[in-house]
Amino acid sequence: MIIEKLVVGPLEENTYIIGDGETKQAIVVDPGDEPDRIMDLIKDNNLEVKVIICTHGHFDHIGAAGDIKKETGAKILMHKEDIQTYEAAKDQAAFWGYDLDDIPQPDGFIEEGDTIQAGNLSFKVLHTPGHSPGGICLYGEGIVVTGDTIFQGSVGRTDFPGGSIEELKKSFRRLIELPEETKIFPGHGPESTVGREKETNFFVNELL
Ligand SMILES: [Zn+2]
Ligand SMILES: [Zn+2]
Repeated sequence: MIIEKLVVGPLEENTYIIGDGETKQAIVVDPGDEPDRIMDLIKDNNLEVKVIICTHGHFDHIGAAGDIKKETGAKILMHKEDIQTYEAAKDQAAFWGYDLDDIPQPDGFIEEGDTIQAGNLSFKVLHTPGHSPGGICLYGEGIVVTGDTIFQGSVGRTDFPGGSIEELKKSFRRLIELPEETKIFPGHGPESTVGREKETNFFVNELL
């Protein structure tokens, strides 16, 4: 398995390119900005992008989705409950002082229990609301890509529209109940593992 991470845009968002080394089929997760850098990395690895997944609809995670779709022909998929957030992303970006290109509507929706495949790789969709109503994680192949649900040592904010601390607690609990050796690839900041977060994440105390 090939996992490439790029830190893009003003909010230093992590874009992941996850490819099957054998078939060269790949998934792009959260292409937030800097499409040229993302495309360079896809080409350098000779990957064929099958699908673009947005873990949620915040502008820092979707800003380059339209460009990557245009370049690769891959479909954009996200959870239905984040469509309002997704559609408001341009305004959200403007609020932060950034100008976002128009983003095409998603090509389809994914939900809890769906499987995303690229070559021999297979990931399950976990619906993990809290940071936003339609937040999802991708779990499989010993890793979990978590968007802004969990970070190394912390969790996503819940004070944006549709955020919920109670939902986030449930989602967080699900994630730390995954096998401890599972590697966490978050939407911002460095990687971690489920075991490490169980031990060190401050949010564990919020569950008590
Ligand atoms: Zn977010
Ligand atoms: Zn983010």
